[in-house]
Amino acid sequence: MRTLAAIKEIQRIEPVEGADLIEKAIIGGWQVVVKKNEFKKGDKVVYFEIDSFIPYELAPFLCKDKIHEFNGVKGHKLRTVKLKGCLSQGLILPLDILRNDTYDLGQDVSDILGIQKYEVVEIDNSGLLRSSFPSNIQKTDQERIQNLSLSEYYDQYEVTEKLEGTFCTIYWNDANELQVCSRNYALKDPVNSAYGQILNKYKDVLKRKLPKNLALQGEICGPQVSGNIYGLIKFEFYLFDIYDTNTHSYLTKEKRDAVLQQINQDEEIKIPVCPVVDAAFNMTDSLTMDKLLDYANGYSIINPKVRREGLVFKSLTTSDRSFKIISNEYLLKSKKTENFKHSEKESTTGLSPS
Ligand code: ATP
Ligand code: MN
Repeated sequence: MRTLAAIKEIQRIEPVEGADLIEKAIIGGWQVVVKKNEFKKGDKVVYFEIDSFIPYELAPFLCKDKIHEFNGVKGHKLRTVKLKGCLSQGLILPLDILRNDTYDLGQDVSDILGIQKYEVVEIDNSGLLRSSFPSNIQKTDQERIQNLSLSEYYDQYEVTEKLEGTFCTIYWNDANELQVCSRNYALKDPVNSAYGQILNKYKDVLKRKLPKNLALQGEICGPQVSGNIYGLIKFEFYLFDIYDTNTHSYLTKEKRDAVLQQINQDEEIKIPVCPVVDAAFNMTDSLTMDKLLDYANGYSIINPKVRREGLVFKSLTTSDRSFKIISNEYLLKSKKTENFKHSEKESTTGLSPS
């Protein structure tokens, strides 16, 4: 689960050029425009990340223009904006909104404050649910670079384009059948769905070639998936990981490439990978947060006419070391698809996401 609201310390206050009434507060890799003199360096505050839905009572001033409603709560959704030309992401509120209780630096206060993650329910898989997500397979969740301490991440990485689609796992289930999973569930053979089409497309090849202990994970993009920003006319699966249920770990890039090559070899239809932006990127102390954020801006390799969502960095030396950089230009410019995440409608059959 993503931490949306937490106790943080303001690292710096910086002026906003050409503005008298506002300044910016820096918290990790995030910058937030605030009223002048409202906060100072070293202040402990509550910081809310973008995508938080802020209940009206917490910050009525946010709802000047319009009060939104989300899951029965009135309030405001935090998005990436520019104020007087200055990027602003998230919201800072003083600690006293938490009343008298004491909290530790870094503590997650999302639940205490009733913060929900704002996302549009888009894919209705509720008719297709079969069981919860297989417990012997891991799911990836990438932390945002703004929340990392860069010096702990100096390393060599494979950098791939982060695709704006929906997460998909293909694996051998206990009955020895190839089965497809969405983010939270194993699905019934869903012939008409995006998942079903992808499974059917690769079933014959995978039946012959996918070792029983391996699960393929990738992003499905295509019509009606996350706004289909690439304008694809049919569904496509872009692989980014292979999980080994014997060793309980993801394959290294080398092994992953080898397995995929084996699967694709001599086949007419091949499984593509998420576009590689840099096969061996060195992250060193010469890179600042700003430089890295800027690196994520750019156009999609899948459709060079549209801005890419961002980049995913996977360590080539240390398993499980990875993170993402969402492009701020993408967040600012793609208003239409903003927040249009690949969330799933919860089931009505009593299954709970694993
Ligand atoms: P957030 O938690 O920030 O609100 P999210 O939960 O929707 O976002 P993320 O944690 O941002 O998803 O990112 C992980 C997801 O990104 C993966 O589950 C995968 O579906 C998707 N993804 C897209 N492209 C890639 C890629 N190239 N490499 C790895 N994951 C990718
Ligand atoms: Mn996530």
